[in-house]
Amino acid sequence: MLCRKRYMYDHENIFAKLLRHEIPCNTVLETKHVLAFYDINPQAPIHVLIIPKGAYGHAQAFYTKATAEERLEFGDMLGRLPEHLGLSSFRLISNQGKEAGQEVPHYHVHLLGGKSLATILA
Ligand code: AMP
Repeated sequence: MLCRKRYMYDHENIFAKLLRHEIPCNTVLETKHVLAFYDINPQAPIHVLIIPKGAYGHAQAFYTKATAEERLEFGDMLGRLPEHLGLSSFRLISNQGKEAGQEVPHYHVHLLGGKSLATILA
């Protein structure tokens, strides 16, 4: 099983289902602990989501509970993706909590690029 149990983690969230291959995704890159895939509702010409495979509901859970190997691999993915996608200018966003705009309760980082973002994202 790809998702390990964590306190209060909702195992029925859409990204957990995606990691269990219950629903499809358009994968960009995948490693042992990390998956990067295209956002289903892109807000820029290139909009990729990066998620840990472990069961972490938000950024705080990931950065306080994940193993060093998981955190290292996540950072490596953020480092590799822009070049893989041909981007030298991009925006990284991560929302934690409903008030911040987090819809899916599985930690994720949005990588957006492909054109000037200043006018399309507040
Ligand atoms: P957030 O509002 O920060 O939680 O972002 C959740 C993101 O997940 C949104 O940009 C959605 O478009 C995206 N999303 C939801 N379901 C899927 C899916 N099945 N495949 C790819 N992206 C998805």
